[in-house]
Amino acid sequence: MTVVNPIEEAEALAEKLASLDLAGRLSFVAGLGGRVVFTTSLGIEDQVITAEIGTHRLPIDVVTLQTGRLFAETLALIDETERQYDIHISRYEPEQADIDAYAAKYGMNGFYESVEARHACCGVRKLKPLARALAGATIWITGLRRGQSANRAETPFAEYDAERHLLKVNPLADWDIDKIKAFVADNSVPVNPMHERGYPSIGCEPCTRAIKPGEPERAGRWWWEQDEKRECGLHVAEEAASIAVQQ
Ligand code: SF4
Repeated sequence: MTVVNPIEEAEALAEKLASLDLAGRLSFVAGLGGRVVFTTSLGIEDQVITAEIGTHRLPIDVVTLQTGRLFAETLALIDETERQYDIHISRYEPEQADIDAYAAKYGMNGFYESVEARHACCGVRKLKPLARALAGATIWITGLRRGQSANRAETPFAEYDAERHLLKVNPLADWDIDKIKAFVADNSVPVNPMHERGYPSIGCEPCTRAIKPGEPERAGRWWWEQDEKRECGLHVAEEAASIAVQQ
């Protein structure tokens, strides 16, 4: 019996995806079998992927993490996107017991007070729901791009996520923001109106601000923290976040 090394499998997949356009990448991945899940934050690059999934009726589950702290504009865009593409976007929400436990320990907005408290909140509101969203998945599709931040500059087309035991596919890894905007304009893709108000990257309302001219795209996320590589733990292994998930 041939034992497939998942890291080599991911490298071979990445090489294949590099030769395809976006629709080809998504179609190829959808055809690999198993449960294929795309997690969308409704950001502009995620909307490009959703548009391709909806337009080509690809067998990919589209899910979002409804953290309970999203902007009203983001919530409205979920509904609008479902209508435009005649798809269902599954909402994964945090457990009320976890929110209550977090609020009792840190305060509802305790994430401003320390990195530990912030990771714990992301753990409750994002990482635990993500784990449920990816349960049984063989492939996880994301909208990560190399141009989003220095932290994402080496994003491959495919990689093995050892923590979650699945293949993670980033079909927009080589797209820049101009290409994203051109696709949106050419295909009338609905996007969050906040992008035009200085929010290139949009997460939870209390943790997102508009950026100033010249700032990196993700500078408005958790802006009060000093770590230039700050993430919510969805796409990087963060010890504190992992601990929070297990609590
Ligand atoms: S982004 Fe902010 S509000 Fe949202 S889960 Fe993380 S810490 Fe909590």
